[in-house]
Amino acid sequence: MDYKEHIAIVQDWPKEGITFKDITPLMDNGKAFKSAVDEIVHYSKDKEIDLVVGPEARGFIVGCPVSYALEIGFAPVRKEGKLPRDTIKVDYGLEYGKDVLTIHKDAIKPGQRVLIVDDLLATGGTIEATIALVEELGGVVAGCAFLVELTYLDGRKKLDGYDVLTLMQY
Ligand code: IMP
Repeated sequence: MDYKEHIAIVQDWPKEGITFKDITPLMDNGKAFKSAVDEIVHYSKDKEIDLVVGPEARGFIVGCPVSYALEIGFAPVRKEGKLPRDTIKVDYGLEYGKDVLTIHKDAIKPGQRVLIVDDLLATGGTIEATIALVEELGGVVAGCAFLVELTYLDGRKKLDGYDVLTLMQY
């Protein structure tokens, strides 16, 4: 399927110089959205995944239907102050700013095989931080899946040695 026809390209948003790839038209198209989720589910099938982890907010949108289809759990990674119980945290840089990501301390049991899902791989800062959280809790990152990869930002270099799926590249 040509997913790119369902991505809206927004110049200079959220800041001048950023060309934002908006996935909401893809989410709005039931067939395209299901097909994209199905591809990630298919990619995950032979990886013996125990848990899906996704960073807020669009990682929830893509990751939750994947966990539903695989009949496994989903653990949210969130900005600081959003998760109600004990968390661990990591500082990270992203394409347009700096922030802190957190995960509940009991979200992952040591040895669990984790699939990390997000909408988009840009500089790789978010995925790198998410991997750090998963690994600090003893999780094994068995795969990373994204709808979109911005190849010109070279996020892949932060994912050396990890298994990565991206459905669209710009
Ligand atoms: P990175 O940390 O630089 O790889 O940026 C990826 C994170 O920022 C993901 O969680 C995305 O949701 C978000 N992001 C960065 N650029 C875009 C974009 O063009 N469209 C949608 N999300 C983006």
